[in-house]
Amino acid sequence: MPLPKPILVPVLGDQLTRNLASLRGREKDDTVILMMEVWDEATYVKHHKQKIALIFSAMRHFAGKLRAAGWTIDYIHLTDQDNSGSFTGEVARAIERHDPRAVHIVEAGEWRVQQAIEEWPDKFDCPVEILPDDRYLCSIAEFNQWAEDRKTLRMEFFYREMRRKTGLLMDGDKPEGGEWNYDSENRKPPKDGLSAPQRPLFEPDAITREVIALVEGQFADHVGSLDSFGWPVTRDEAEDTADAFIAERLPCFGDYQDAMVYGEDDLFHSMLSTSINLGLLDPIDLCERAAKEYYEGNAPLNAVEGFIRQIIGWREYVRGFYWRFMPGLESDNALDAHRPLPEFYWTGETDMRCMADAVRSTVDNAHAHHIQRLMVLGNFALIAGLDPRQVQDWYLIVYADAYQWVELPNVAAMVLYADGGKLASKPYAASGNYINKMSNYCSDCVYSVSKKTGEGACPFNALYWHFMDQHRERLEKNNRVSRIYSNWDRMGEERQAEYLDSAEAFLETLEPAKDGWARD
Ligand SMILES: Cc1cc2nc3c(=O)[nH]c(=O)nc-3n(C[C@H](O)[C@H](O)[C@H](O)COP(=O)(O)OP(=O)(O)OC[C@H]3O[C@@H](n4cnc5c(N)ncnc54)[C@H](O)[C@@H]3O)c2cc1C
Ligand code: SF4
Repeated sequence: MPLPKPILVPVLGDQLTRNLASLRGREKDDTVILMMEVWDEATYVKHHKQKIALIFSAMRHFAGKLRAAGWTIDYIHLTDQDNSGSFTGEVARAIERHDPRAVHIVEAGEWRVQQAIEEWPDKFDCPVEILPDDRYLCSIAEFNQWAEDRKTLRMEFFYREMRRKTGLLMDGDKPEGGEWNYDSENRKPPKDGLSAPQRPLFEPDAITREVIALVEGQFADHVGSLDSFGWPVTRDEAEDTADAFIAERLPCFGDYQDAMVYGEDDLFHSMLSTSINLGLLDPIDLCERAAKEYYEGNAPLNAVEGFIRQIIGWREYVRGFYWRFMPGLESDNALDAHRPLPEFYWTGETDMRCMADAVRSTVDNAHAHHIQRLMVLGNFALIAGLDPRQVQDWYLIVYADAYQWVELPNVAAMVLYADGGKLASKPYAASGNYINKMSNYCSDCVYSVSKKTGEGACPFNALYWHFMDQHRERLEKNNRVSRIYSNWDRMGEERQAEYLDSAEAFLETLEPAKDGWARD
């Protein structure tokens, strides 16, 4: 009897879990798993070298593990001679090779890839089933239903629904401790000498070393260096990172969530985003483990609630938001910002000590922690009026955890307010005072944070008022911002002119980034 035709299961680079909807319940002798390293994905922006190495290494380790467990894996390497360079091309070739009775694929995380997948049923002479990605707590349909009748979308209300849905930190139908959100207890400034225990770094094994050599060879002109590569590339390594976070950093995560310290690249943050986004860790399992620490008295509520909020709140919320507002979100520019990205976003060569440190961490590690991304790099981009498309590309390129579904809402909507306020109730604009309060950057900066205008003044101070003045018509109507204009008006015209002149003079000095880094 001829063997029955198999099911072809393409597994994408950020779907590295045995618990994927397309793999669950499948039999080994009835399945061919297809994994593809393709040029389209490696080059649609010029990703940081560590990001490419991380994804390819994690894919190769995952394939090896499945193969060892008896699964049939068809693995396409980037440099295979006949590699067509695209997912669609590779699935077409795999259909010819395996003559499957159907293709089963889990929906893609990025809009661009999902568009291509949705064309497959018409393109291929073989049934294609596209399954929902049920690794998320909230499906796209559920998010749309939640969003449908609301005038404004706010993460806080979505988050409460997710708390109720999971039962995480719930005491019956009430939130644990009486409050839903302990954000106000997540803002301790760093005390002198604040530093966190070192996160685990993993020595590259033979597979990772081979990938590193590939990336050095093929992507030599991409940003970053691979010398310090230490990312977890397997589930076991990711679990080790999670164990270390929960034991050593979680208790302080809440207090110092918004703190920044010169040279301390990740403080008490978990460093788990790369592993969660690849599929190596289950986000809900992490939240349950964190909640257990609270109930066992090992971590305070402000830490555990803060961590859970980031995952079942922000992470789920931005994913729903992305699918609701794509493809428009990519080209939104509500504040009509057009200034080119400055060169120092790549080199870190600026006298602004906060920016220089955040860019250095970004280039060295393919990572910067949340408050650096939001209140230093993002805040500058907002108040200097940088072009949203260029800023989006930069964030997508430089971070090892960056996939468009999570990067774009954070950048376009949270940081740049380019969506006109669908995500955030007001722009996250701040002067140097905020950075000074939450960091130790300013004491050794060339600029003086207490000086507001003129020679040697912190540029964030004048840029802040320049931004507020430029967008007065729109922001004055926002009752969370309007009172700021009373302060502005009280300054009088002469002082206002000093702020505006100072900002203009600083903006004149910005050197646009050289070509060659961004979208090809
Ligand atoms: C402008 C900007 C761009 C960002 N781009 C990305 C990105 O491309 N990829 C990415 O995964 N995160 C992004 N974030 C969110 C956040 O900064 C990173 O998830 C975090 O810094 C990763 O480090 P960590 O694992 O130590 O996070 P922790 O601070 O330990 O937080 C725990 C987890 O919560 C989740 N999380 C926290 N904040 C957010 C958020 N705002 N949106 C979604 N998930 C969140 C992540 O999974 C993270 O691992 C961005 C934030 C900003 C402000
Ligand atoms: S003084 Fe201004 S530019 Fe310098 S570190 Fe502080 S906020 Fe940044």
